[in-house]
Amino acid sequence: TTERVFNFSAGPAALPVSVLQEIQDELLCYPGAGASVMELSHRGKVFIQIMEEAEASIRSLFGISDDYAVLLLQGGAALQFSMIPCNLLRDSGKSASYLLTGAWGKKAIGEAKKEGTVDTIYSAADTGFDRVPKAGDYTVKDDSAYLYYCSNETIEGVQFQSEPECPTSVPLISDASSDFLSRPLDIDKYGLIYACAQKNAGPAGVTVVVIRRDLLEMGSDKLPGYLNYKNHADNDSMWNTPPTFPIYVLGKVAKWLSSDIGGLAAMEKLNHEKSNLLYQVIDKYPEFYLGHAQVDCRSKMNATFNLPSSGLLEAFVSEAGKNNLQNLKGHRSVGGIRASVYNAMPLEGAQALASFMDDFAAKNG
Ligand code: PMP
Repeated sequence: TTERVFNFSAGPAALPVSVLQEIQDELLCYPGAGASVMELSHRGKVFIQIMEEAEASIRSLFGISDDYAVLLLQGGAALQFSMIPCNLLRDSGKSASYLLTGAWGKKAIGEAKKEGTVDTIYSAADTGFDRVPKAGDYTVKDDSAYLYYCSNETIEGVQFQSEPECPTSVPLISDASSDFLSRPLDIDKYGLIYACAQKNAGPAGVTVVVIRRDLLEMGSDKLPGYLNYKNHADNDSMWNTPPTFPIYVLGKVAKWLSSDIGGLAAMEKLNHEKSNLLYQVIDKYPEFYLGHAQVDCRSKMNATFNLPSSGLLEAFVSEAGKNNLQNLKGHRSVGGIRASVYNAMPLEGAQALASFMDDFAAKNG
């Protein structure tokens, strides 16, 4: 069947239907270009305009100043696990501080250790990654190369509600892969913030890196060229062929956010509304829906919970599927259920899942 379902996938994830329709309309021939956007030179006028507009839309959504470069790169978020320490740690003579709140932070630390000294100054591993630190739970050395954290741990469903405390002398670095563009942010607080696109921002294949320009000077010429941020900044993300099609979609999603949704504050409000619907049912049946995250660390993007038995878990997934509520299985490393309600999940999707959960608990609890 070609019927669309409510897709709770953690990523690649749902895209706005109106964006998909626009892409469909333009797929064979981008207006005025005589060819599909996939068939255009990245150095041609048409594509350069698409790329400039995508960047301008992202800048305008957050209000990013010219003190920052916005880079559109390949290699996924995972390459940033390495690019960050390659540029900012390797030759710094310093150590880097990491806050460890989940699986993605753990991977980032593993890669950073290959490039230099890493201090894991906070870890929530002992409590199964169910929380983020509060002020006072850790100390950042004033001479750290940077402080790194993952704002939303996609697998465990824990999210920083605001930026962690960080000395002004230390660049703050965030992996915002799974909550980028979901809420307003004060970019001036960051040295670098990055996100792969395939959750809130577009299809897999492009990673957005917003970097304070002074940090562009930190990478050594000896680095492989692709890994040096400065090469990308100096060449407007065209040091090599950029991922043209994902950038085109990213631009459309960013425009949808401003014109259809009304900007990031409006998006945040809607995202709260959607995730609240799910957490309300979890709280209504606390013996039946076993929420993973501590209440004040719950993710607005990925609601994670378990059921009392593996039989009930299977029944939940299978009955939800019959109701067009799909891709709800948790990550293989933690099990349970993970419902991802990123930007493009409509309110009706969250309502449908919440109402299914309520019925399922009433019947089986
Ligand atoms: N960081 C976070 C928070 C993620 O959710 C993911 C992907 N699920 C990654 C990093 C890795 O992204 P990629 O697969 O694009 O390298």
